[in-house]
Amino acid sequence: MTQVTLDKIHALCKRRGFVFQSASIYGGLNGVYDFGHLGVLMKNNIRNEWTKSINTSFDDILSFEGSILGSSAVWQASGHVENFTDPMVDCLNCKHRFRADEIDLNKACPNCGQKKWTQARQFNLMFKTQLGAMEDDSSVAYLRPETAQSIFINFKNVLSTYRVKIPFGISQIGKAFRNEITPKQFLFRTREFEQMEIEWFCKPETALDDFKKWCDARKKFYESLSLNQNKIRFRAHDKTELAHYSKCTSDVEYEFPFGWKEIEGIAYRGDFDLSQHSKFSGKDLAVFDEETKQSYIPHVVECSVGVDRLFLTLLFDAYNEDIVEGEERIVLKLSPKIAPIKAAFFPLVKKLNEPMETIYKEIKAKGYSVEFDESGSIGKRYRRQDEIGTPLCFTYDFDSLQDDKVTVRNRDTTQQERISIDAIEEYIKKVLK
Ligand code: ATP
Repeated sequence: MTQVTLDKIHALCKRRGFVFQSASIYGGLNGVYDFGHLGVLMKNNIRNEWTKSINTSFDDILSFEGSILGSSAVWQASGHVENFTDPMVDCLNCKHRFRADEIDLNKACPNCGQKKWTQARQFNLMFKTQLGAMEDDSSVAYLRPETAQSIFINFKNVLSTYRVKIPFGISQIGKAFRNEITPKQFLFRTREFEQMEIEWFCKPETALDDFKKWCDARKKFYESLSLNQNKIRFRAHDKTELAHYSKCTSDVEYEFPFGWKEIEGIAYRGDFDLSQHSKFSGKDLAVFDEETKQSYIPHVVECSVGVDRLFLTLLFDAYNEDIVEGEERIVLKLSPKIAPIKAAFFPLVKKLNEPMETIYKEIKAKGYSVEFDESGSIGKRYRRQDEIGTPLCFTYDFDSLQDDKVTVRNRDTTQQERISIDAIEEYIKKVLK
């Protein structure tokens, strides 16, 4: 059994250029990360799979991209200015800062061993900024701490410009920012991250049923990513955990080495958001029901997952160490749909570069994410691809000159077989399915 740790994942991400600490040449920016080539490819795959799953789960899902800068009025109405806080304490001795709900204040500071706590106080997690040159209250804006509110405030814009009827959904992928008191566990809790959210607007009568349907759809999504299903669970919030406006909420949780943690929240939010924005903006956000001839505020089911947190989850789930031909290897057994590189092409020796490069270029021109690698022993090239999760490696050898066949090697089983050069694309397609 592989012991997968945060350190191993972090080191792999850095070594292979998936993720870098932001501003590392200046000592690093805490809780902020940059993504390299493989990280970007993998994130794109995550976004694509999410979008596909959302659009095939339900009819009438519209796309949306809201601004990151949000007017102060929006966050007043949503309750974030007042309530989007975490409790914070400081150690008076070493000046370390902690989330008060995450440590035992009856004990000494875990950093310096002294017990000299300040009073716990609420810290707002939103990044505040100023629009324009005037520094007064009227110019205050916030970087959005979640993508959802931009959907709610545009609900009527979308409804009146696109021919949809309740129920329908608005989906969005975009950045969110939270000034987390203690960013930690690498990509798990960062200050700048990306969310994939769907807000599903429905009639109050169908909302509970729709909530269940969304839970089923989200379960299928996690199955489709080939995540170890023993490490995924849906946990319903009990009454004490529920937000005051939510009738039911379920967290999708994954079992990390540091415990079961939320990767997605699915919440039935009632009519809270649209009602708040109706009240604060003075604009009527109700819709007219042709059947009952009455106006009502639609209810909302929300599914919200972090791209970066899911990225980390997929790496944890895929990370394996095993022994191949007496040599230790690290292998990411990522779903081929998520793997940044789908196939690698190797000439056995440099003399054979030309025919293999021609094959590689043909496959690349068809839109596949593939790599050509001519350097080092074949064994070394396999290890490199295993470590970044490439499902297939094709090798062109001297026999290929005669029989027009290549050897294909499977990442997970390390089994090899010979296939015709003409069959390469079909082979890749089959694996991607
Ligand atoms: P947590 O309790 O872990 O802080 P949350 O309940 O505040 O999460 P939501 O507001 O429900 O999170 O956000 C939805 C999703 O956005 C989370 O399930 C997670 O995947 C992602 N997310 C939230 N905060 C962060 C963060 N600081 N860093 C990375 N991803 C985050």
